[in-house]
Amino acid sequence: ETGPQKHEFQTEVRHLLQLMIHSLYSNKEIFLRELISNASDACDKLRFAAIADASLLGSDELAVQLIPDADAGTLTIKDNGIGMSHDDVIDNLGTIARSGTRKFMESLSGDQKKDSQLIGQFGVGFYSAFIVADKVTVRTKRADAEAVSWESDGQGEFTIEPSDKTDRGTEVVLHLRDDDKEFLEPMRLSALVRKYSDHISLPIKLANDKGEIETINQARAFWARPKSELKDEDYKQFYEQLTHDYTAPLAYAHHKVEGTIEYTSLLYIPARAPFDLWDREQSRGVQLYVKRVFIMDKAAELLPPYLRFVRGVVDTPDLPLNVSREILQGNRTVEKIKNALVKRVLDLLDDMAANRPDDYATFWQTFGPVLKEGLVEDQANQARIAKLCRFHSTASPDKADVGLEAYVARMPAEQDGIYYLTADTLAAARNSPHLEGFRARNFEVLLLTDRIDEWVVSHLTEFEGKKLESVARASKDLESKIETPEKARLEGEYQDVVERLTKVLGERVEAVRLSSRLTESPSCLVAGEYALSRRLEEMLKRAGE
Ligand code: ADP
Ligand code: MG
Repeated sequence: ETGPQKHEFQTEVRHLLQLMIHSLYSNKEIFLRELISNASDACDKLRFAAIADASLLGSDELAVQLIPDADAGTLTIKDNGIGMSHDDVIDNLGTIARSGTRKFMESLSGDQKKDSQLIGQFGVGFYSAFIVADKVTVRTKRADAEAVSWESDGQGEFTIEPSDKTDRGTEVVLHLRDDDKEFLEPMRLSALVRKYSDHISLPIKLANDKGEIETINQARAFWARPKSELKDEDYKQFYEQLTHDYTAPLAYAHHKVEGTIEYTSLLYIPARAPFDLWDREQSRGVQLYVKRVFIMDKAAELLPPYLRFVRGVVDTPDLPLNVSREILQGNRTVEKIKNALVKRVLDLLDDMAANRPDDYATFWQTFGPVLKEGLVEDQANQARIAKLCRFHSTASPDKADVGLEAYVARMPAEQDGIYYLTADTLAAARNSPHLEGFRARNFEVLLLTDRIDEWVVSHLTEFEGKKLESVARASKDLESKIETPEKARLEGEYQDVVERLTKVLGERVEAVRLSSRLTESPSCLVAGEYALSRRLEEMLKRAGE
């Protein structure tokens, strides 16, 4: 082959580039954060690959270097990480739209500040290079492949050709637009690194005015630093770097544990749900490091699925460096760390619920239905999780803010169970005739309308010794609780009616009974004491049982 090979950007990528350039020009500087983040990822990947093949590491320290060249008008971001082969380049930088591309474009709001924060979350960070550059050259080499050079002006196409680069890693050369020459100034660059990339654990290097190369960031694993050295602001900044979520987290917990098992954990509760929270295919979880070496993202084994909203880092010397997902499954050390992390998260939530009710309400609104899964999944912590749950009730029909503890505390003396009603919608629950008798006697009833609730109440059968009871069930016990004095007299008076109805309805019902549970409606249908609830019955029917 002779000369550079031409390739076209996929249409979706072309749109993305246009949008990026035109909608983010007032937040240009974020390109640096994105390119440094890629360089850092590439070094993490190399360190990981070097676990199997130590010769990969060589003697040079892994680092990112910023090289401004005023004469050429270029800024180069250079790393000695994993590098890319010819096929990697094609896959990663152009032909194939990445899974988040469309979602990113759909999420653009027109607010440049907000939009610039979306980039990292949707895996389209590389393209931000074109906000400040009218041409980008990427020279890259994997240890086991020929070096390649990729180049594009960000319009319709890019070219690929062999490169004479001999050392492993990647150089992204930005040919800066005339308006963007400010990014050649070392002062500006170091300020940006401190603002966005200070907590990247890799050294970021830049030559000072005397030509000496200096490290301009902290360059230490953030979580390994002593708590006393770190401020609230630092934790927030690290969160941004870790998650690309620029909404401040609701809470965090940083622990260094030295005992039979040694580990450091830094866990965050986000304030916002990721766009794929409900996508079951998307694994979530914290990052796992072994002795500061990045092992994997989203180590799902370290937290149960019902805590999949938690973000953070776990670093332990007690796992082998070559640990794989297969090894993590069923590993005793992992199991112990996981149990401890669950406690930490529940502690954090307890604390927030007790001391910061507004934040807790935000949390509950965002992640409540996920946490509820724990009532079923995690029997050992069921009581703690139950305490953290919030529901609608007849006393709070508009806001899901009733906790079981509060409910029990205000139960009238003659009430001995926790009453609930499940329904498809809140409106249906509020208007249900089943509530009439309970309302009349001032018994609060929880209104459960999440899809998962039916499943929850089939597992959570009691709380603090109080039984959870459905008001839509024909329990004799429940019936006697709301019995009115007139019932005995009415029983005689209505005997005829009951008999007639029993005959007419025949096999279709188990029994026809006079009940005190209604005060306005003439009749209602209840489930047998030991039968499936009506909703569960319907759900099973729909599922084809
Ligand atoms: P993300 O980082 O979220 O995957 P980006 O658009 O920032 O999305 O990068 C796209 C992909 O290009 C990366 O996943 C990686 O495979 C590749 N890449 C980008 N920069 C580098 C680099 N410096 N070294 C190696 N690979 C890189
Ligand atoms: Mg990236």
